[in-house]
Amino acid sequence: MIERYYSLNNEPIELPLGKLICVGRNYVAHVDEMSSPMPEAPLLFMKPSTALADARNPIAIPCDFGECHHEAELALLIGDKIDRNTPLALDKQLYGIGLALDLTLRDIQAQCKQKGHPWERAKSFDDSCPITPFVKVNSQDIEAMSFSLSVNGKLRQKGLIANMIFPIVQLLEEIKAQFTLLPGDIVLTGTPSGVGALSPKDEITLILDSQFSISTQVCAWQ
Ligand code: ZN
Repeated sequence: MIERYYSLNNEPIELPLGKLICVGRNYVAHVDEMSSPMPEAPLLFMKPSTALADARNPIAIPCDFGECHHEAELALLIGDKIDRNTPLALDKQLYGIGLALDLTLRDIQAQCKQKGHPWERAKSFDDSCPITPFVKVNSQDIEAMSFSLSVNGKLRQKGLIANMIFPIVQLLEEIKAQFTLLPGDIVLTGTPSGVGALSPKDEITLILDSQFSISTQVCAWQ
């Protein structure tokens, strides 16, 4: 768990830690690699703030619950309250963007899907959301951005924001229709294809367009 969010120059961000609203199946190639049906509406789930970890530190994964997969995703840090009656004004309401790993216990998720159970045991455990520092950007510039994840020097995932099935504005419209977003909440916008298992000692590099590159190592839960 983390104490604060940070900006790129390591300044603490004056927002409380909040809930994480996550979107599944938001890139066509990832839907295909999971053999999942194409979504008609965004598939939403949540992680608690205890899932947050600092992606600049070693990434601790549980090793006793089957495969733990990386899902690199664009993360939106909410700066202003948005509820169902609030018109979207992203440049005012979005504090900044960063990258997150939506760590997923894939074997447990498969069991949950098979039994029709909720996904929390697979998705919402401690440290299941390493996040990078956040950068402020003009919301209009996000659409043209890309991000990537490399493991041990090999490119595993590359996401083009323009390839999202549900673009950011549509996602936030869908989310706020049911869930109030508070300052400090984070929205994870879905993962592109290339998800795979992590192991202790793997070297990870997360790159957000021309904004930053962050490298760290995987370790096992203590
Ligand atoms: Zn995800």
